[in-house]
Amino acid sequence: MTDYDLIVVGAGPAGSTVAKTAAKAGYSVLMLEKKASCISPCAGYVGNTINTELPENCTVQSRITRMRTYFPDMTFHDFPLNGFVVDRPSFDMALAEEARNSGVDIRWDSPLTDLTPDGDGVMFRGGEASGKIIVGADGVFSKTASLLGLSRQDIAVCAQYHLKGIETLENTSEIFFNADYAPGAYAWIYPSGPDSAKVGLGITITSGSRSVHDYLDAFISESEVANRLGGEKTEYMTGALPVGGLRENFCIGNVMLVGDSAGMADPITGAGINNAILAGEVAGKTIVNALENDDLTLLARYERKVRRLLERPLTRSLEKRGWMDTLGTPNEVLQERLPELWVTFKEYWG
Ligand SMILES: Cc1cc2nc3c(=O)[nH]c(=O)nc-3n(C[C@H](O)[C@H](O)[C@H](O)COP(=O)(O)OP(=O)(O)OC[C@H]3O[C@@H](n4cnc5c(N)ncnc54)[C@H](O)[C@@H]3O)c2cc1C
Repeated sequence: MTDYDLIVVGAGPAGSTVAKTAAKAGYSVLMLEKKASCISPCAGYVGNTINTELPENCTVQSRITRMRTYFPDMTFHDFPLNGFVVDRPSFDMALAEEARNSGVDIRWDSPLTDLTPDGDGVMFRGGEASGKIIVGADGVFSKTASLLGLSRQDIAVCAQYHLKGIETLENTSEIFFNADYAPGAYAWIYPSGPDSAKVGLGITITSGSRSVHDYLDAFISESEVANRLGGEKTEYMTGALPVGGLRENFCIGNVMLVGDSAGMADPITGAGINNAILAGEVAGKTIVNALENDDLTLLARYERKVRRLLERPLTRSLEKRGWMDTLGTPNEVLQERLPELWVTFKEYWG
């Protein structure tokens, strides 16, 4: 059994960031990925914040300078925004490549299957390895978290097409609130080029009787914007994201959870890439410090630091989510109270 300083489970943005940070400092790192390559379902919007530099070799599909948010009656509100739509597989693969170039040993097609009984090793398809520290960056349905006995998270389920040959708004991400199409969440159009876009929606799992696929097809063929969306449907995908906010604990002994596995996506917007990378950097630096000092009790600082950074905004968003779930968000309520529920309105922050 090979020994590593760090074993990271999951080669998404969180995992690659943690792995790269520790490997750059000279520590031995194994990263396990369940799939043969990175293919997380995503619209690919990455905010241009100080913590996120786009990796080289990542395909940028469009620049976003504005978010347009539609009320159910299709009146809208514009807000300046600064970010990119990326091709998500190329983004994740570029981050994984950076990790590999820093010395990370990546095993594709190697899902984690168990933690060793002594807690300092992992079993995965094709082998086992021991590590002083284990990071679960394995997404919303984290196997690492379930092996620790932690509960499943509340989720929104999402579906998305990449539509080609359609009418998009340049540099604009469009967000649609309408309970007929996206009960409990919203629909989106993220341009991926002059005449193509990722068009999708999320629903909270308890709402509605139709499937998420039915809702998306209805949005594309029946909604007020259907006349713009009549192009070719490609790349259908479904996925889920956590909407329950931060887990109660996400650093348990020598095991740390980072990104969606710890509930770091925003419960209202669903955005989780920036937070996954931010927390990945914090986790990586904390791990380096603990290894340098040969003191794993220092790992507990990770959870405290992340809470300082993310707890306030995620708690606010979680309150809004609770409010939305209680009211059921029929269109009359959304029409009147959307500004209190959506981040681009000043009322959200009041
Ligand atoms: C349809 C959809 C659209 C979205 N759009 C956006 C958006 O535009 N912008 C945004 O910021 N966020 C978006 N999100 C959320 C975003 O995708 C996540 O918050 C983000 O990917 C979290 O990163 P992560 O590294 O924590 O997890 P993930 O990106 O989910 O990575 C986890 C990795 O772990 C691997 N894995 C899982 N189980 C195992 C196992 N047992 N062993 C080994 N590996 C395993 C998975 O294969 C995956 O590669 C969207 C989500 C969905 C579902």
